[in-house]
Amino acid sequence: MNKAIYPGSFDPITNGHIDIVYRACSLFDEVTIAVFDNPSKSPLFTSKERVDLIQCVFEENRQVKVEYFSGLLAQYAESKSIFTIIRGLRAVSDFDYEFQLSIINRKLNHNLDTIFLMTDQKFSYLSSSVVKQLSSFDATIDSLVPEAVKRALQSKQNISNDSQEISCG
Ligand code: ADP
Repeated sequence: MNKAIYPGSFDPITNGHIDIVYRACSLFDEVTIAVFDNPSKSPLFTSKERVDLIQCVFEENRQVKVEYFSGLLAQYAESKSIFTIIRGLRAVSDFDYEFQLSIINRKLNHNLDTIFLMTDQKFSYLSSSVVKQLSSFDATIDSLVPEAVKRALQSKQNISNDSQEISCG
C-alpha cells in the first residue's frame, strides 16, 4: 500500500488544505493527516478540536486517517513506517521554509522524501490565519472553510478561548 503523511498545524483546516488532501488521495492509497503543534504559532484550537474538525470533514473518506502527534515529524514517520511527506506550496514565500524543513527531515531520517503539491490557484491566498482574522471580524468565510469549521470559529469567538466539543452535523 502506497502511503503518505500530510503534516501541519491545521488551526483550523481550510479548503486549501482539503484540496491538497484530495489530490494526495489520487496519488496515494492512504493519506494520514498528522496534526502537529507548530512551536512558532500559538493555536486558537486545541489539538483535539483540530483533529475532530478534520475527522468531520473526512468522516466518509476511508483513504484518509487523522492523528495528533507531539514529537518530531521524522520520528513520527519512522514510527508509522511511512516515508513520504506531502506539503502544499502557495507562493514563492512558502518555498524557503518548506525547503529547509524538507532538508532537515531528510537529515533526521534519510528515508524521508517530501512531495510538494502546488495550491489550486483559487486557494493561493488562503491560510488558517486569514480565515481566523476574517472570522474575528464577522466577515463571510463560507467559501474558505467547511461548515463545521465555520461554526467552530463562531463559537470560539462567543466562548473566548475555552475548549469546545466539536459537532459535525
Ligand atoms: P504548518 O504550521 O506546519 O505550516 P499549516 O496548517 O499552516 O501547517 O499548513 C500545512 C501545510 O498545508 C503546509 O505545507 C502549507 O503550506 C499547506 N497549505 C496551507 N494552506 C494552503 C493552501 N491554501 N493551499 C495549499 N497548501 C496550503
